[in-house]
Amino acid sequence: MMGLEHIHQARERIAKIIKRTPLMCSNTIDEKIGNQLFLKCEHLQKTGSFKLRGASNKVIFEAEHNARYVVAASSGNHGQAVAYIANQLGLKSTIVVPENAATCKQEAIKAYHGGVEFCGFTSGERIERAKQICEDEQAVFIPPYDDPLVIAGQGTAGLEILEQLDQIDEVYVPIGGGGLISGIATAIKESNPRIRVIGVEPTLANDTYLSYHNGKRINIGVTTTIADGLRTSIPGELTFPIVQKYVDEIVLVEEEAIKRAFTLVFTRMKQVIEPSGAISIAAAMESGARGKRIVALVSGGNVDTAVIPSLLIE
Ligand SMILES: *Cc1c(COP(=O)(O)O)cnc(C)c1O
Repeated sequence: MMGLEHIHQARERIAKIIKRTPLMCSNTIDEKIGNQLFLKCEHLQKTGSFKLRGASNKVIFEAEHNARYVVAASSGNHGQAVAYIANQLGLKSTIVVPENAATCKQEAIKAYHGGVEFCGFTSGERIERAKQICEDEQAVFIPPYDDPLVIAGQGTAGLEILEQLDQIDEVYVPIGGGGLISGIATAIKESNPRIRVIGVEPTLANDTYLSYHNGKRINIGVTTTIADGLRTSIPGELTFPIVQKYVDEIVLVEEEAIKRAFTLVFTRMKQVIEPSGAISIAAAMESGARGKRIVALVSGGNVDTAVIPSLLIE
């Protein structure tokens, strides 16, 4: 079982790669919600998301064990993170993306000298192809969340939060496959169990919420939320037991509330974040609590500029 000591090991392993991201706050938002809200700014992490933490911990470990070539299946932030860290370490990387992957995402991978290979439209097809490449070319597959080293790497954001702020009441964390929240909840609960860790999902992609309340992993099939980093259809095999053990509550957020949070942060704080990162702020704003000290983990900032107008609402 993954524990706090693995997160400390991860932190040492990735120290030279990762930025310690700031906490940001806004008086306007605090007055509006009657709580002190701090944003943990992983949209300012290198490559634009927290994914570099887990990817770096895994890829550095594999490189220390003689890997020369790494492969991932992701059109999004995980793909960029794997390409970036592979390039830093002088390893070859290939990222398997869907046939319809956005050009800007392909460009980002290529900018980090990762190879782009197109395959099908579903994540199942991409993962199969990625594993085939690994078999044919003695490469190592880097999973996006369901891996102890990846989870431990994501947990380093939790250690930073604990050092940056005291007297925390609640921490809100977005959930896709559950790697981020598993790492952060382990870091926080094994340090200070009094802090409540709250998971956040879009109502349209509520697989972990349903699984949590039914006590078993439930597959919800294809999802369509604007929070594209959270479109997983089933919680991870390794992550779900950690969510069951350490997460105090899971809340759901509507698409409109994600847009409202995006708009507020864009106009008031002048920060560009992606919908998957805005969701934790939306949940914190809807919490109904008063006089609390709350952290919302803003997981990423990679949003296509063409999409921004559709996220800005009155
Ligand atoms: C991957 C991702 C998530 C979800 O993380 P999991 O570890 O899959 O739960 C949330 N936000 C952003 C921006 C992401 O890239």
